[in-house]
Amino acid sequence: MNLTLPQLQEKLKEWKGCPLHKNANPVLGEGNPHATVMFIGEAPGQKEDELGRPFVGPAGQFLDELLATIGLKRDEVYISNVVKYRPPNNRDPTDEEKEQCMPWLKLEIALIKPKIIVPLGRHALGHFFPNVKITAAHGKPHKLNDTVTIFPIYHPAAALHNGHLRQSLFDDFKALGEFLKEKKSAP
Ligand code: URA
Repeated sequence: MNLTLPQLQEKLKEWKGCPLHKNANPVLGEGNPHATVMFIGEAPGQKEDELGRPFVGPAGQFLDELLATIGLKRDEVYISNVVKYRPPNNRDPTDEEKEQCMPWLKLEIALIKPKIIVPLGRHALGHFFPNVKITAAHGKPHKLNDTVTIFPIYHPAAALHNGHLRQSLFDDFKALGEFLKEKKSAP
């Protein structure tokens, strides 16, 4: 089944496979359908729920700032989430909710075919490497298979009120920028 991103959007609007849909709006990923790099967050927050778009609140503004430090714009990458609806009061998504929503993320990955996936925080990292801790894995490339590299980074929301993590995010983005450059110049 070869759906386009707008078709995926429409299908998500009709989907009722996750009970979170009763109190929230669907938020699919967005960005360049031919992106090499895909960022994956946790779940939409308040602003994302209001606008039906990922990473448009405070964490999203910080993500834009981080992207700019390595010369990337939002429309050059693809940005999505593990869970497609805002959990009440921004609580952590449950394992069940993550599992229920996972087919959507898998469809997005199949469609975009990114070469580098950047899980933002432990929820997204857990999908690729369930036994790896973000504290150990962040800021470095990890080969997933012959074509995809996972480059985990802390979630930008976690850094909004923590100066130490904030610096770590800038450092990790710098490392990501260097990794992307190396990949580009590789034969
Ligand atoms: N946090 C996330 O994980 N995703 C968003 O879209 C916004 C905030």
